[in-house]
Amino acid sequence: MSTMKGDFKLKKEICKVAEIIYAKGLVVATDGNVSVRTPDNCILITPSGKRDIKVEDIVKIDLEGNIKKRALKPSSEYRMHIEVYKKRKDINGIVHTHPPYATAFGAAGIPLKPIIAETVLENGEIPVAPYGTPSTEEVPRSISKLIEKHNSLILAHHGLLSVGRDLFEALNRAERVEFLARINFLAKMLGGAVPLSQKRIEKLIELQHH
Ligand SMILES: [Zn+2]
Repeated sequence: MSTMKGDFKLKKEICKVAEIIYAKGLVVATDGNVSVRTPDNCILITPSGKRDIKVEDIVKIDLEGNIKKRALKPSSEYRMHIEVYKKRKDINGIVHTHPPYATAFGAAGIPLKPIIAETVLENGEIPVAPYGTPSTEEVPRSISKLIEKHNSLILAHHGLLSVGRDLFEALNRAERVEFLARINFLAKMLGGAVPLSQKRIEKLIELQHH
């Protein structure tokens, strides 16, 4: 009973985040997907190929990919979400988007450097995971190792994966990575970003622990 109640609240959060990523231009059309881990260690995930997602559209699956309750088809990238929840016990929310600047870095194969102070703590350096054909096993395989150490990954020729202790932390990371990608791009127009020194990065990390 309490799980059901908890699920309803989580489904509402998923709908809200799905709306935000579309409104912010982090995805177009029916792209992208959003999920959370439930207290009973299952996954609530957005359905495949639908706009304007409602609470009743959210699909519940277990960590093996079995659908718990007959509903719409889960997002075609559900295997990637399962991989993250299996690898990272600390993660309870995932936001997968196709934001234009970060995706462009992924198309060019260029990792993002943390040149903006706020993004250092949030994300560190953001690597580019090798290309995997969307919706196949290649995607979870391509992120499996990198997701152990990073909270955001650019997926080559595809988009962005951001994870968090809850859904809103994952959303913040997605937004900040796209902002960072935009700044990296603009700085390049100005002759290239000056990297933040290791000493300055260490000071930021130190401040966070106080
Ligand atoms: Zn995608």
